[in-house]
Amino acid sequence: MGILPACCEEAPKSETKYSFMKITKDTFPKYKPHSLIASLPPHLKDPANYKKIQRALLETLSTGHSHSEMEGWAKCLTCMNAVLAQKELMKRLGFKSPAQYMAWQKIHEVITTRVRGLKYND
Ligand SMILES: [Zn+2]
Repeated sequence: MGILPACCEEAPKSETKYSFMKITKDTFPKYKPHSLIASLPPHLKDPANYKKIQRALLETLSTGHSHSEMEGWAKCLTCMNAVLAQKELMKRLGFKSPAQYMAWQKIHEVITTRVRGLKYND
């Protein structure tokens, strides 16, 4: 003491030397799941089902039509029925809103690109 400059002075003995040693389970704020995805049912959270669900949802939109104009598409009964069918299927699968579906899709895209090769349930 006294010899060292102020910035190098020893920490008081009562304090733990390394701050990481003070980390306990109470250090972190309580885990709060994102409100948008917290309510997803387990079958939607399972990455093993992602591809199957996406395929089923995309298939509802396949009408064989190709409208070059947005307007023509929006006025086409077949295509509008396909959109309704997709919404219906989303609800049946357990999605609560289009926003929730979008969030779910983003999460699973990240999982499939980052966790390549990891297989569930086998
Ligand atoms: Zn159409």
